[in-house]
Amino acid sequence: MNSSMSKKLWRKAIKEHFDCTCVYCGKTYELSNLTLDHVIPRSAGGETIASNIVPACEKCNQKKASKPVYEFMRTSFGVNRLREYVISKHTNG
Ligand SMILES: [Zn+2]
Repeated sequence: MNSSMSKKLWRKAIKEHFDCTCVYCGKTYELSNLTLDHVIPRSAGGETIASNIVPACEKCNQKKASKPVYEFMRTSFGVNRLREYVISKHTNG
């Protein structure tokens, strides 16, 4: 297996782990319509490791940009404890 193939599988596994939903808005998408987002942005020192990567639709990914994750979610969708829990559970390993 070459590294671009394993990267592809890794990306797919993360999306499937979340049942192909955008973690931010909670909607379900086709695999190919989901992007992957760094919960802690790279610009803030976030690493490209599974616990810092979540699936996000393009719209949420663009809107979040480098905002702090919960601040982005609350200002965009209001407080949603379930979605915040899903993210915190993932990012805390
Ligand atoms: Zn979304």
